[in-house]
Amino acid sequence: MRIDIVTLFPALVEPALAESVIGRARARGLVDIRVVNLRDYAEGKHRVTDDYPFGGGGGMVLKPEPLFAAVEALRTPAARVILMDPRGRLFTQQMAWELASAKHVLLLAGRYEGVDERVSEMLVDDAVSIGDYVLTGGELPALVVTDTVVRLLPGVLGCPGGAERESFAGGLLEPPQYTRPEEFRGARVPAVLLSGDHAHIERWRRVQALYRTWRARPDLLERADLTEDERRLVDGFKRGEKPE
Ligand code: SAM
Repeated sequence: MRIDIVTLFPALVEPALAESVIGRARARGLVDIRVVNLRDYAEGKHRVTDDYPFGGGGGMVLKPEPLFAAVEALRTPAARVILMDPRGRLFTQQMAWELASAKHVLLLAGRYEGVDERVSEMLVDDAVSIGDYVLTGGELPALVVTDTVVRLLPGVLGCPGGAERESFAGGLLEPPQYTRPEEFRGARVPAVLLSGDHAHIERWRRVQALYRTWRARPDLLERADLTEDERRLVDGFKRGEKPE
């Protein structure tokens, strides 16, 4: 898979892609990530990429020409072109799975007060927001999307199948995890996890995942695929019952 990140600040993006899981995936050729300087596609002596907004208002707006030139130069027939935009579709794990099956994703990082609207109207396939807040630029959102997608690619994570068991994959949040020591400052690891009874452990994990999801993200439960018994369990949580 290839991911291009088009930005005015490559130096902000590169270091995050050089380390740990993503850095190793790049080094092993599991993903081809290219950080592209938008200024290279701007014309004129000063390679200007922004201008004042028509109609007044503060700040600057990214001009359309450099973004069109960059996308037209980089785009392959399979490319999905995505603008980072707080007004876009909310980025989810589901979207990450979809993007992970694409051959080529082109991420455009906006800056200043945003991007000339003709980019949204005529150039991109999608606009994606990473949450209901406004950052100074699209670099962090592009990194969030890249990181989330790359760790789903075959061979990237050390533990095969690990991503399928994580939060959101099955519509629930992940159950609690513990490692050594068995006792820390008086708090013991739940006995079931030390029991070696795998069926019991799986049941405990499922109930805990339901409980955590109900407490932190009840909205997820409305869409989750639950059995009748599990729905009854959730009704119990609503009445104040706690898992074992
Ligand atoms: N004036 C814009 C608005 O109110 O929607 C915000 C512009 S923001 C300061 C500059 C750039 O940062 C945006 O063009 C976008 O690329 C990026 N950005 C900021 N917040 C974002 C978010 N939550 N998700 C995705 N991109 C974001």
